[in-house]
This record gives sequence, C-alpha cells and structure tokens, in this order.
Amino acid sequence: MISVDDARRAILAACPVLPPRSLPLAGALGCVTAGTVTAAHDVPPFANSAMDGFAVRAADTTGAPVTLDVVGTAAAGSGPGVEVGPGQAVRIMTGAAVPPGADAVVMVESTAPAGTDRVRIEVAACGGDHIRHPGEDLRSGQVLFEPGTELGPGHLGVLASVGLSAVTVVPPVRVGVLSTGDELVPGPGDLRPGQIHDSNRPMLLALVAQAGWAPVDLGTVADDEAAITAAIQRGVATCDAILTSGGVSVGDFDYVKVVLDRLGEMRWWQVAVRPAKPLAFGTVGLTPVFGLPGNPVSSLVSFELFARPALRQMTGHAALYRPEVPAIADEALTRRPDGKLHLARVVATADADGRLHVRSSGGQGSHLLRSMALANALALLPDGDGVDVGGVVKVMLLT
Ligand code: AMP
Ligand code: MG
Repeated sequence: MISVDDARRAILAACPVLPPRSLPLAGALGCVTAGTVTAAHDVPPFANSAMDGFAVRAADTTGAPVTLDVVGTAAAGSGPGVEVGPGQAVRIMTGAAVPPGADAVVMVESTAPAGTDRVRIEVAACGGDHIRHPGEDLRSGQVLFEPGTELGPGHLGVLASVGLSAVTVVPPVRVGVLSTGDELVPGPGDLRPGQIHDSNRPMLLALVAQAGWAPVDLGTVADDEAAITAAIQRGVATCDAILTSGGVSVGDFDYVKVVLDRLGEMRWWQVAVRPAKPLAFGTVGLTPVFGLPGNPVSSLVSFELFARPALRQMTGHAALYRPEVPAIADEALTRRPDGKLHLARVVATADADGRLHVRSSGGQGSHLLRSMALANALALLPDGDGVDVGGVVKVMLLT
C-alpha cells in the first residue's frame, strides 16, 4: 500500500497541462488563461455621464440656484450631440456621451423644471462632477489578466468590455467515462437476478461536467478483456483522460488492470485510504487512465482524491486540492486502527460563531451512496480510533 500523498505525486507527474487554445468567451468559463490578456481599447471609450441629469458648464452654476437654457437631449448610444454654450444645458442620460462644451453633470434630483426648455440648477457643480472619463476603468494596452487566471463571469465581462470575442486558455479537459462489470445494466429497465443499474457512469460524467470539463460517455462494458480493450482504445482516440470504474480489485474477473498493463504503462496500487483503496493508474500512450474502484462511494472518493487534482493540473489550475479546514465533531466519528486514512462522509455546517461543525451523513459502507450524496465534506480520520464528540477534526470541503 502507498500513501495518498505518494499516489498523488506519481499521478501528477503523468498529467501535464494541456496545450493552449483560443476559445470563444462563451466557452471559456472556468478555464485558465494561457497568456497575458491586454485591453484593446479604453473602457469607457469616451467621457460619459454617471447620472441622469443635465450636462452644464460648471462655471455657469456658481451662485446656484441659476436657470439655464436646455438646448438638447443626449441619450445613451447617440453621438456627441449639440454643444453646450454659456448659460446652456443639455438633458443627459446615464451612459450618454458628455456633449462638447460641458464639463460637469448635475443630477436630475438637484434640478427643477423652469418653464419651456429652461432648467433651474439648485446646487453649484464642480468641474468633472458625475463624469466618467475615458480609460477610467481600463486603459488601452493595460494588462487585464496574468497567465494562470481562472476566468469567472466577471472576467468574461471584462474581456467583452474591451471587445474581445475569444481568449487563449487551457481548454476544458475531455474526460472519457467507462463502467465495467457483468452485473451492470447501463440505463433504466428491468433487472434480472444478479444485475444492478450502472450508477458510477452517470455520477462520474456529472462530476466531470460540474467541474466545467467535457464529459465523454464511453458506455458500460462487461468484464471482458476484449470489450474493455476496445472501449479504452476508443477513449484514448477521443479523450485527454479516461476514468474507468470497477475491475481493479483482486477478484477473478477484474480485468481493467490487466488491460491497462497490456495497452500501456500501468501501476496497480493499493492506496492506504478507506474508502477508495484499489486504484489502477496508468497511461496509454500519453493519455492518463484512472482505474477507479467499482463501489460507488469509493469511485467518487477516488475521483475526488486522485482524478480531480490531476485533471485540474491538466487544465492549468495552480490550486489542485479541495480546501481542508478544521471542524468540531458534534458526534463521535469512530474508526479502528488499520494503517489507513479513513474518510467519513459528513454534513458540515457553520454555527453562529463562524465555526464549522460536522455530523455523519449516514452509514459509511462503501456501497452506501446516499450518505455520500447527502455529505458536503469528508472528515479525515488519521490512523487511530477516530474523534470523540467535541473533538477537532480536519475536513475536506466538497462544495
Ligand atoms: P468491482 O470493483 O468491479 O469489484 O466492484 C465492486 C462493487 O461495486 C461491486 O459490488 C459492483 O457491483 C459495484 N459496482 C461496480 N461498478 C459499478 C457501477 N458502475 N455502478 C454501480 N455499482 C458498481
Ligand atoms: Mg466488477
């Protein structure tokens, strides 16, 4: 058995970052920039009003209240419009270009109508009042984002604001997902004796999709060397990484590790962790293949511990791991010493004083998937007897 850390190290060494690609902004959410992104022009591109009100010459308003002639209207989206001369004002909307001659905007709340085409300015303005200057947000040529920036919705808004339609990023990793097992029925439908529905494939496809990557369904195959070989080869041809589940334990029909060994370079590990002890990791050509265990909870936990960090590295992320934080056990989380790290499915909630508290989310057998679904964290129980009620335990946050 090797430790979780050693397994992670070896896996990360075989999972280099994907080559960069230019993607349309809409496809780049969650991706990491692969170069420096600069502003193509100023934002805002022209002086414009921050308020609905009147564009004026500030000097005309000293000694307010004063009354000015309204000589036009400037709406957002129209050009510079009429000039504001001495004693004049232009009615202006938020975002409209400040007309020539004006050097301040008086907000509508500080004015009053004063007859036809006249406005009373109640408060004296200072030059520059309520005017947004060109380049005040972004200057042409300015660095917007350094390489390695994860693009969120706000980042995409910034890129759109400088008129970009595409950005060079590390693309989402295409991850093939394959289930193996004679007992598996791929979809709904009736079960014959001995059969179960394949739950790992929809779950793993969803984990990939939730991370913002591109899931590729490689289907469900029997415990059959030829069928597993064909499916993995299909995956290698179309995917950047492959997740299989089942067939990596020490049973008579566990062929995944046999196939991996034959097709590529395979390391078969027993990791000192529970659940998720069996793990066959290897490469076929340059494609990493994660042979995850079949038990659904083990499969998910193995994805979290080993596949997710590796896939994050492939997609250019600097932070690979889920956050681990201390929490207070509101009930005892017991275990027996066995040389392994145990991961207990827990529900973590913040209490009024901001501390995190955890409780078990249910039965901890590796076939009990519902308690995994209900958990939002895994309590890390080092080798020993677990943690007593009120004790502090480190938890890995899953959300
Ligand atoms: P294995 O790793 O193939 O020995 O499978 C371990 C356990 O996980 C067995 O009880 C399998 O029936 C179950 N299992 C394997 N693959 C799946 C799957 N795709 N969906 C649900 N259960 C599975
Ligand atoms: Mg099996």
